Amino acid sequence: MEKLKSIVRKAKVYLFQGDKYECPFCGYKSSRLGAFGFNLPVIEEKEIIGSGLRRCRCYRCNAIDRERLIYAYLEHESQFFKENSLPVILHVSPEKHLSKYIQDQKFTQYIKGDLFVGRYSYPADVENMDITEIPYPDNYFDLIICNHVLEHIRDDMKAMKELFRVLKPKGKAILQVPISFKLKETYENEGVVNPKDREREFGQYDHVRIYGLDYTKRLMKAGFLVNEFNLSSKYTKLGLNLKEKLFIGRKNK
Ligand SMILES: [Zn+2]
Repeated sequence: MEKLKSIVRKAKVYLFQGDKYECPFCGYKSSRLGAFGFNLPVIEEKEIIGSGLRRCRCYRCNAIDRERLIYAYLEHESQFFKENSLPVILHVSPEKHLSKYIQDQKFTQYIKGDLFVGRYSYPADVENMDITEIPYPDNYFDLIICNHVLEHIRDDMKAMKELFRVLKPKGKAILQVPISFKLKETYENEGVVNPKDREREFGQYDHVRIYGLDYTKRLMKAGFLVNEFNLSSKYTKLGLNLKEKLFIGRKNK
């Protein structure tokens, strides 16, 4: 079965060569992207951005749009890896390809943390970390990447405050979440606990809420200054999600 999958994958890599997209992680140039994700009624009804079935996967390395979006920001829109900025970095739940890209840059320290759960195996350099209690001092990190993590955390305000606490003044935190602009307010319900119910209510079995238009306000409540912008249409070859905005949290003092 694995062998068959591998043959099919190789065939697709051959078949979909083209010049519409170019994967920044493996260099594969393609005419289209592979399907990823799944549709659920709640995802369609609430138009949750960053969820649902979409064509966003590199046929060769399997990297998806979320990773490429952070890449686009770091590589083209920020100074972290330019001019000897040598940042101290915290990467929460580090994505494979993005983390490899960062590892190849110049930095002072690159900490990777995740709250270990049984169903995954983690590389040796990922620390077991609860982001509602980050084991680092105040004002420690120049760059924090927390990409689609907060929607899994029950006490997200505590996590946001912790991320703010460990961020250096003038540092930047990339704080992406699946979000619905159809919801004025974030929808959460502590009574919804079992995976099937969470899938129905929040669009994924291990999500605890759907963020709405008040997401920025919540980040601000935790202390962040927030820049929101959309750069997806600027880098067409990266095949980004045209609806996904970047949320960059800053700290001014
Ligand atoms: Zn790739």
